[in-house]
Amino acid sequence: MFSNSLIELDRAHLVHPVSSYRSHEASGVRVLKSAKGATLTDASGHQLLDGFAGLWCVNVGYGQDSIVEAATRQLRELPYATGYFGLGSEPAIRLAARLAELAPGDLNHVYFTLGGSDAVDSTIRFIRYYYHAKGTPRKDQFISVEYGYHGSSTAGSGLTAIPAFHAGFGVPYDWQHKIPSHYAYRNPVGSHPQGIIAASVAALRAKIAELGADRVAAFYVEPIQGSGGVLVPPPSWLKAMHAVCREHDILFVADEVITGFGRTGPLFACEEDDVVPDFMTTAKGLTSGYVPMGAVLMSDRVYNTIADGAGRAAVGHGYTYSAHPVSAAVGLACLDLYENGLLENGRKAGHRLMEGLRSLADHPLVGDVRGRGMLAAIELVTDKERKAPLPAEADAARRIFDRAWDNGLVIRAFAQGVLGYAPPLCCTDAEIDGIIARTRRTLDQTLEDPDVRAAM
Ligand code: PMP
Repeated sequence: MFSNSLIELDRAHLVHPVSSYRSHEASGVRVLKSAKGATLTDASGHQLLDGFAGLWCVNVGYGQDSIVEAATRQLRELPYATGYFGLGSEPAIRLAARLAELAPGDLNHVYFTLGGSDAVDSTIRFIRYYYHAKGTPRKDQFISVEYGYHGSSTAGSGLTAIPAFHAGFGVPYDWQHKIPSHYAYRNPVGSHPQGIIAASVAALRAKIAELGADRVAAFYVEPIQGSGGVLVPPPSWLKAMHAVCREHDILFVADEVITGFGRTGPLFACEEDDVVPDFMTTAKGLTSGYVPMGAVLMSDRVYNTIADGAGRAAVGHGYTYSAHPVSAAVGLACLDLYENGLLENGRKAGHRLMEGLRSLADHPLVGDVRGRGMLAAIELVTDKERKAPLPAEADAARRIFDRAWDNGLVIRAFAQGVLGYAPPLCCTDAEIDGIIARTRRTLDQTLEDPDVRAAM
């Protein structure tokens, strides 16, 4: 009764992100009620393992008392402080300093946002400002990668390369360009790492030549492409792309909104390729979803060019909630957890997750298993030889999500038949094994789906 009325209210009033409004009205909302560790409980009492950490964000897991206490303390003491008028708050200053210390290289300057999309959007504004300050405003063309996701803001959605974010929205703009993805499982150049790196380097060089190096402002990349289906580049791919940008004086933006804060093993995924970007965008694991926050980290060179260019004039970019003290207090508490065993646990759990997923490779539906650390995917096919995707018209992904739900597991089911995994870093061995066992059951049931059988 209680949840029926919620379903009606939701249907009538709550607009959901990235969903078919009409399909959602038809199926109705699933109301989540509570959570602890890696376990969710819905309004009917059904318990589920959260194999996706909310939306790849609850890295520390649910119900961490130290975070609740840090937020409560800050809410009591100073719930809000603006950064305008030269004001600030202790947690925001301390969090900026700690991020600068932990981030690679000279990423020493931190601008706080409310999430990932406005972090990406802020970089676009900072980059334009930077080139104006340098006296080269003609460098105003931006390049990103097919299957990339860089948020849903008006400008950032054009760097995103997922069709649903463009259709009907008038993006990408004519200053936003793409190069093909490294997508190893379906790369026309094959899956050999050196071949993929060579092809990506050639594609980036060709795009720069086409636009003119004097026109290209920045290259945006996720160390592992997340929303495009968890696409993992070969080792050294990031380094090779970074080198091309250096050669042509093009700013390199590492979008670590998903990969940051231990998701792939180290605190930041760039570290694995020894790359120091000019900008790093982060969010999600920064506050683990307990409260909203994102952060743009920028290098000394970028910051100083902007600062000198502005001189005594204001750099006109800012939000009411930039550097929110409650979010910053939560961010500090999350960093404490990462540094006191959680990164380590995540690395162990990540090995177990990858091993478990690889053990599913013998399943008739599993065409590809990929991932690093606690960020992974399996790609389902109806014919391994031809790599034939699941039948799209049968809404197979939705049905897989529903089956997994009934089996007590939340995973991301991408429309193209890719199942995404990003469990909280606090997962125990038993929880990781539970995710794998429930996945196998879900795959076995999917094999019985008449639409899937018909396509095999
Ligand atoms: N960049 C990347 C790489 C992301 O994965 C996301 C979110 N999934 C964003 C940006 C946007 O972040 P948000 O949803 O917090 O606005």
